[in-house]
Amino acid sequence: MASTHDDQPVRVRFAPSPTGLLHIGGLRTALYNYLFARKHEGTFVLRIEDTDQARYVEGAEDDIRDALAWTDLEVDEGPDVGGAFGPYRQSERADTYRKYADQLVEQGDAYYAFDTEEELEAMREEYGTEHAAAKYDASTRHKMRNSISLSDDEVQQLLDDGAEYVIRLKVPSERSIRFDDEIRGTVSFEAAGVDDQVLIKSDGLPTYHLANVVDDHLMEISHVIRGEEWLSSTPKHILMYDAFGWEPPRMAHLPLIMSPKGGKLSKRDADDLGIPVFVNEYEDAGYEPDALVNFLAFLGWNPGTEQEVFSLDELCDAFSLERVGSSGTQFDIDKLNWYNEQYIRQRSVEQLVEEARPLLRDAGIEASDERIAEVVSLMQDRITKVRDLATEARYFFEDPDSYEEKGVKKRWKDDSAILLGAYADAIEEMDDFTTDNLNSSLREIADHHDAGAGRIIHPARLAVSGRTYGPGVFGLLHAVGQEACVRRMRKAIDVLG
Ligand code: GLU
Repeated sequence: MASTHDDQPVRVRFAPSPTGLLHIGGLRTALYNYLFARKHEGTFVLRIEDTDQARYVEGAEDDIRDALAWTDLEVDEGPDVGGAFGPYRQSERADTYRKYADQLVEQGDAYYAFDTEEELEAMREEYGTEHAAAKYDASTRHKMRNSISLSDDEVQQLLDDGAEYVIRLKVPSERSIRFDDEIRGTVSFEAAGVDDQVLIKSDGLPTYHLANVVDDHLMEISHVIRGEEWLSSTPKHILMYDAFGWEPPRMAHLPLIMSPKGGKLSKRDADDLGIPVFVNEYEDAGYEPDALVNFLAFLGWNPGTEQEVFSLDELCDAFSLERVGSSGTQFDIDKLNWYNEQYIRQRSVEQLVEEARPLLRDAGIEASDERIAEVVSLMQDRITKVRDLATEARYFFEDPDSYEEKGVKKRWKDDSAILLGAYADAIEEMDDFTTDNLNSSLREIADHHDAGAGRIIHPARLAVSGRTYGPGVFGLLHAVGQEACVRRMRKAIDVLG
């Protein structure tokens, strides 16, 4: 097994909290962890951080599982696949956290706190300033009701009486907390700005901070790769690693995903700009999962070369944390659409027929696979999403009921009816309906009338598709079919005169 640092095998984790549908930023975090694991022949762990009962959302874990399966990010250890470090759902590990919290209390690095909500509220106001509420820290903890300010007897009495309490981390009053971030270099925080973090809540369950640190240690996580929003939690985690005497994992905080309007991409901005927020919305919107993955890989990372289209395997080879930027990275939906187009162009016609068949059926279009295949091969380079076939290619299957007005003005001339009429007659007579014959017959008629080929091509396209643009005209006519071509051309002559 390869390793990067200190000969420790690479083990990374994606540790979502099942508090709602998975965000696109969450999927990026999962992807970067996955790529890093594969690159270093390491292990990709899925850990469900579900200790916050109040925020737990039924079905959220399924949504995470679906998103990883849809994008093909295979988990090596996790709630479904198991592994030597399980259980991988934190709600199933409560006893473990309690044991470690007790250890910190015994060591004097954490303490019991019995304060009620009202007492906390009063403290924040009384010792706070106009601009900021007071923290529960070295400057205030002596004024509160906890196992530091109270005598041992008082504490014991409270515990015996079954008083509600939390366990808090005793953050030192003065200390610089430094750590090396793989993406940002050395990061330092002053302990004075850090709250005495609650580690065990009054319901006996751990907070994210305690559970996260204990599990990263017990699961032998080598690198913590997560979003920048967790950067400010890291000093608390470092203090805990120190208190336990554990070597912390390497840290890597991914850049924020920014709105094209500036600032962090908020749900509201995203809605305004038509950017889907949740992974399942990308699936519903008709994006190809491998295109989305390729796009997300570039949302914060770049290979340092011109290459933009990478398969998942190629990404695994090329990925490195050194090439992840530290400043925010702008979400560009046009770029995602571009990726989707690239992936559609790479697909085989057979694959696209499979994808298109149900979409067309849902849109009320019934056609044989052979016909769909012909349309797909003409339209593959002209659509952004497979579902566009149901709109952009509808005319292959149904006669147009109107003609583009501008096109008519520009392309329908005085001689159009005569030329197109002659062409329709020729098509009707054609024994062998091929694109070659469609082509030669059109040129013969044009020559005969001393007109350029365009004089028939443009009206023919307009008559058959109702539009002035689309794939090559002979391919179009062929895909529409002999009978339908004749019918549509005669109808256009009728309507347009
Ligand atoms: N449970 C946290 C989340 O929902 C995990 C943060 C981390 O990776 O440490 O993102």
